[in-house]
Amino acid sequence: MRILMVEDEAALAETVRRGLSNEGFVVDVMHDGVSGLSAATENSYDVILLDLMLPLKNGYDVLRELRARSIWTPVLMLTAKDGEYDETDAFDLGADDYLTKPFSFLVLVARVRALVRRGAPERPVVLTLGTLTLDPVTRTVRRGDSTIGLTAREYGLLQYLMRRHDQVVSKSEILDNVWDPAFDGGDNVVEVYIGYLRRKIDAPFGVQTLVTVRGMGYLLSADRSAAAGASQQRGA
Ligand code: CA
Repeated sequence: MRILMVEDEAALAETVRRGLSNEGFVVDVMHDGVSGLSAATENSYDVILLDLMLPLKNGYDVLRELRARSIWTPVLMLTAKDGEYDETDAFDLGADDYLTKPFSFLVLVARVRALVRRGAPERPVVLTLGTLTLDPVTRTVRRGDSTIGLTAREYGLLQYLMRRHDQVVSKSEILDNVWDPAFDGGDNVVEVYIGYLRRKIDAPFGVQTLVTVRGMGYLLSADRSAAAGASQQRGA
């Protein structure tokens, strides 16, 4: 069982990490919201312990962005007693449980085990576009009967484009929604990843569904043959 703890109070984080390790859990600790969100996006955890007040990005924003990225890992929110938010907010935003600080370690372990048993709470629908399908639960992408292996970033990009299918999406919209806010490279990275995706979701199948709309962005639509796609792109 692998747990991510996002907690900026170093002493508390270390105490909990040591305690959970003794209980047989593997625990990764991040000390701010941005690195917590990255870790939760890039790795697979059974439970996330998420502090509310965090440097760089607070726990609510981390949780919201996780759910927006279709990461349904159970989240146990750690809240301060007289915080600005309460447990109702936590549940509204998609937390699965919460604990008010200071909490008993035994209670924490019991709650973590309960969340592990319960598993991911939501089963979002499979996204479909023509013969392309994306299952957010299993993170599986298929074209027809063929399973397509994508990296985490390619998957995030495809998921975003599928949600916005048949709309032109700009590079900056893609950067804002798919890349971490801390990313400070240029937007050329988007073009690079669009290329990677095309080589995986289109080229092997003789279709051209992900096209460049010059000067505006990218457009993902239902299947169309490579020949038809090429003539459309020339016209754009
Ligand atoms: Ca804190």
